[in-house]
Amino acid sequence: MPDVGFLNGEFMPLSQVKVSIEDRGFQFGDGVYEVVRTYGGVPFQLDAHLERLERSAHAIHLNTSVHSKKWEEWVREGVARAGYPECKVYVQVTRGVASRDHLFPTGTTPTVTMSVREMHPPDQALRQAGVVVMTMDDLRWGRCDIKSINLLPNVLARQRASESGAFEAILVRQDMVTEGAVSNVMMISAGRVITPPEGPHILSGVTRQRVLSLARKGGISVEERNIDLGEFRRAEEAFLTGTTIEVLPVVRIDDAPVGNGQPGLLTKRLHSLFQEEITS
Ligand code: PLP
Repeated sequence: MPDVGFLNGEFMPLSQVKVSIEDRGFQFGDGVYEVVRTYGGVPFQLDAHLERLERSAHAIHLNTSVHSKKWEEWVREGVARAGYPECKVYVQVTRGVASRDHLFPTGTTPTVTMSVREMHPPDQALRQAGVVVMTMDDLRWGRCDIKSINLLPNVLARQRASESGAFEAILVRQDMVTEGAVSNVMMISAGRVITPPEGPHILSGVTRQRVLSLARKGGISVEERNIDLGEFRRAEEAFLTGTTIEVLPVVRIDDAPVGNGQPGLLTKRLHSLFQEEITS
């Protein structure tokens, strides 16, 4: 069965999933989500994704039993049903269906949906060439650590970047780089990996955490601290991290090349370490 859908415990073809227009996800963006990918048909870092889903749900006072075992089984079953060589799994939970009122409804059951599609990783040519990023103001709210389905500022930023020929938007808040619209950002300076710290202004990426721990294990120093835009522009290397892009080199920031304009050596090394982790 291609493109698997899931609604509140039931699997069905994705095209058959129907949710009420009164769902609070639809009305208010009142929900949270995760994206998980598989390698060799096995969901990668599923625990970390489900833990973050639980944290996000808790942060918006959404009382779901994101009971890892049950949710884990749903994801694994979705992947098995889809049968693609590699899958991208989108899991979403909202506060449920209720007549429209900003206040939390009482007695409403959360809506849990999932889609399982074939995963198409960025192509090799893009990875080898590296990508261009465009900096712009971070117009998001003060709790970017919650993986909320309210993504309008991210959508607008990514669209603007794309229309300017950039792969990703790099968001800047009060002259400090926060993250990409759909990724975390890191730079290399004097042989160290530098990335903005966890906190309300970034989503703590599952890939980010893994890359930082691989760097430390590989003897590369890591600094989690604020990066101002000027410093970012002077980076020797820069890269993006995310579930679907892994470690993706940045070779140009706005109109200027990063370093020599080629993917950097440490970036490549970190990507190799990441790949070894997947295959180990
Ligand atoms: N930051 C934002 C805003 C994101 O949307 C994402 C991924 O969707 C990330 C960072 C990277 O997170 P992860 O590595 O968990 O995919």
